[in-house]
Amino acid sequence: MSVTARKIEIKGLVQGVGFRPFVYRLAVEHGLKGTVENNNRGVFIHVEGLEQEIEDFLTRLPDRIPEAAGISSIKTFPSALNHFKDFSIRKSRSSSDEITEVSPDIGVCRACLEDMKSQPHRINYPFINCTNCGPRFTIIKDLPYDRHQTTMAVFEMCDTCRKEYSNILDRRFHAQPIACNTCGPWYTLHENGKTEEELENILTRTAHLLESGKIIAVKGLGGYHLACNPFDEDVVNRLRLKKNREGKPFAIMIRDMKTAKEWLEIDEEEEKLLTSWRKPIVLLTMKQDFAPSLSIGLNTVGAMLPYMPFHYLLFEKLKLPAVVLTSGNLSDEPIVISNRTALKTLGPVSDAVITYNRDIHNRTDDSVAFVTGKKERVIRRSRSYAPSPVRIDINTEGIFAAGAELVNCFCIGKGNQAILSQHIGDLKNLETLEFYTESIERHKRLFRFQPQLAVMDMHPDYLSTRHALAMDVPKISVQHHHAHIASCMAENQLDEKVIGVSFDGTGYGTDGNIWGGEFLVCDLNDFNRAAHLEYIPQPGGDAVTKHPWRMMLAYLYHYFGDGITGEKVMPLLKGIPKNELETVLFMLKNKINSPLTSSAGRLFDAVSALLNICRQATYHAEAPMRLEAVADHDECASYPFDTDNAVSLKKTFQAMIDDMNRGVSPTVISTKFHQTVAELITETVRRISRTTGLKKVALSGGTFQNKIILEKTEQRLKLINLEVYSQSSIPSNDGGIALGQLAIAAKRRELGLV
Ligand SMILES: [Zn+2]
Ligand SMILES: [Zn+2]
Repeated sequence: MSVTARKIEIKGLVQGVGFRPFVYRLAVEHGLKGTVENNNRGVFIHVEGLEQEIEDFLTRLPDRIPEAAGISSIKTFPSALNHFKDFSIRKSRSSSDEITEVSPDIGVCRACLEDMKSQPHRINYPFINCTNCGPRFTIIKDLPYDRHQTTMAVFEMCDTCRKEYSNILDRRFHAQPIACNTCGPWYTLHENGKTEEELENILTRTAHLLESGKIIAVKGLGGYHLACNPFDEDVVNRLRLKKNREGKPFAIMIRDMKTAKEWLEIDEEEEKLLTSWRKPIVLLTMKQDFAPSLSIGLNTVGAMLPYMPFHYLLFEKLKLPAVVLTSGNLSDEPIVISNRTALKTLGPVSDAVITYNRDIHNRTDDSVAFVTGKKERVIRRSRSYAPSPVRIDINTEGIFAAGAELVNCFCIGKGNQAILSQHIGDLKNLETLEFYTESIERHKRLFRFQPQLAVMDMHPDYLSTRHALAMDVPKISVQHHHAHIASCMAENQLDEKVIGVSFDGTGYGTDGNIWGGEFLVCDLNDFNRAAHLEYIPQPGGDAVTKHPWRMMLAYLYHYFGDGITGEKVMPLLKGIPKNELETVLFMLKNKINSPLTSSAGRLFDAVSALLNICRQATYHAEAPMRLEAVADHDECASYPFDTDNAVSLKKTFQAMIDDMNRGVSPTVISTKFHQTVAELITETVRRISRTTGLKKVALSGGTFQNKIILEKTEQRLKLINLEVYSQSSIPSNDGGIALGQLAIAAKRRELGLV
C-alpha cells in the first residue's frame, strides 16, 4: 500500500469555530500525518497517509464540521511527501491580504452547559465557552484570531486553563476566550451605590428584583439589555417612559423551548431558527396574554431563547417563564457597550445594573428574523450573523457601499465576498452616526480593507451619502430601489436581466419624486422603470410618516377631490382635529410642501389610517404592521384596481369605503386589501413578463417584511409559472441596501463603466 500526500485548501467560515482542532482529530482517526494551519485565505491542510484513508478523510470532513462552521469551497492538490512524523496544528500567520471570515458570536453549546455543572473549576461559571461556542466578533480587535488580539488579552490563563488550551485532545484546545472561576472575567451587581460580586447573590437578587417589578440593566454579548417582567403592565409601561420608547414592541427571552410552546405559536421552521446557534429574536404569534403594553396593537412578539451562560443561570433562579430583554439604550441611540456609560445612562433608568469586566469591542444588537414560506427572513442582521460574508461572482475588492439612512448597514468588498456590517441604525442620530464611522474604521482594520471605489444612494441628504462623498476615491450613486433588487439578486446569485418588484417606504427617484412602489426591468448594471404605483402628494414630506392620517387624506383628496366632504367620506374623517384637517387639505389643494410619492409604505399608512387602526405612528412602519396584524392569512376576495403604467387604486379606495359604510369589519377589509396588493403586483408583473419575455422575478423592499404580502405574492407569481426570488438571510428593508449597492458597483466596474 502506497503512501501519498495531498494539499487541501478550505475556504468559508472556518476560523474561530474550532476548525483546526476538528481537522486534527479527524486526521488522527485516519492515521494521517501532516499539518493544519489558518492563514488569511482560509484553512490549509497537508496530509500524508494511505490513499484510501485520505479519501475517507476528505469524504467525512464536510459532514462533521463544527456546528457554527461553514465551508464555501474545498480544493485539493497533489503534493510531494514531506515525511511528517505526526499531525500538528501550526500557529497562525498573517501574511496575505485576502481575508477569510471572522466568525460571528456563537451561543453557548450544550457540552459547555453540562461542563458548567460538572467541571470543578467551572461550576456555574458564567463565561464558560469552548472551541465550538462563545464570543467571537464582539471581542476581536484584529486578525489572526488569537487571544492577544481580543478583549480577553488582559486575563492571564490559570494553569488548568492553559493545559486545556494547549491540549489538542481537549474541547477547549485553542479556545481563545477560555476562562474559569479562577482566572476569567466576572459579573458585578451595582445597586444603590453598593456592589456585589458573588454570582450566587447576584442571581438571587436579580431574580427577586425582576419578580418584584423592577428594571435591570444587564450586560449581554454585544451590548447591554434592559430587563423586566413581561407580564407586569406597570413595569412595562415604566420601561417605555424611561427608555423614551412610546410604542415600538419589546422583545422577550423565554426560558426554554417547552415554555416557549406554551406561550407562543411555533412551527417546525420557527423552532429550528429559535434553537439554532445564532439564537435570533424570532417574531411569533402570541397564544396567551402578556402585558398589553409589551407589543401594542400587534398579535406577535419577538422572542429568543437563552444564549449566554448567565441567561441559563438566571432562569434557574427566576420563577417567571420569560423576561423582557430589550436593547440597553435611550430612544434611538446605539446599544450601550461600555460599563461606564451603562452606569451613567442606564443606571438612572433602572433599579440595578449588572456589569462584567470583559470589554465588548464590536457592538452588536440581537438579530431579528421571522419565518415565511418555510424560510428564515432576517430583518435585523447583527449578533451571530455579522460579519459572515455573502459570496459574489464578481470581484468586489476595495468597494465601499455606504448603505441607506434608516436601519443602516454598510458593506465592504473583499475578493469575491461582500461583508455586510452589523446593524448600525438611524444615522440621523448623532451617536449612531459616530457608531457608523467608528465601525467603518474597525472593518478597514480587521479586514485589511483599502477603499478604492465608493457607492452611495442618490439621495443627496442621506448622511451615508455625505460620508461617501467625503472619501478620496471615485464614487458612483445608485437608485434606492435598484439597490434593493440588486441586493436580492446578489443574495440569490443572479446576474442577468430580471423583473424587480421593489415595494418600500421611501427612496429618491431619478425624476426627483419619492419612489417606493416600483416595477423595474433591471440587471446588476442598470434598470428601466417599467411601472409604478400612481403618484400621490405627500403633504408635509417626510413628516407624514408620523401622521398616517395625512396620507389617508392625500389619497382621498387625490381620488375624490372636493367630494371628500360628502356624506360617504366625511364620517371616516371623524376624530381628526378640524384645524389640522383644514391645514392639510389646504396644502393638498394648493400643492404646498407636497412632494409626489409612489411609495407602497405610504399606501399602507393611508389604509391603516382609513380603517382607524393607526392614525398617529410612534415608530417606523407602525401603521403597516398594525394593519397586517388585524388581517388573516386565508384566501379571500379582493378589491378592484387598474394597472396601467401607473397602478391606480381609485376603485380600491371606493370599494373599501363602501365596505366601511356597510359596517364590514376591519379584519375583512384589511385582509381583502392585502390580497389586492398581491394581485396588483402579480398582474403588473405578468404584463411586464409578456412584453419582455423575462421569467425571473426578484422581490425586495421593506413591504416584503409583511408576511401576508410576501406569502401571497410568491404563491401567485409561481402559479403563473414565474421563478420568484426573495430575500432570506439579508434584510429586504434598507438594512440590505448596501449589499445591492456593492453588487451594482462591482458589475459596473467589471464592465469598465467606472
Ligand atoms: Zn461550548
Ligand atoms: Zn482558568
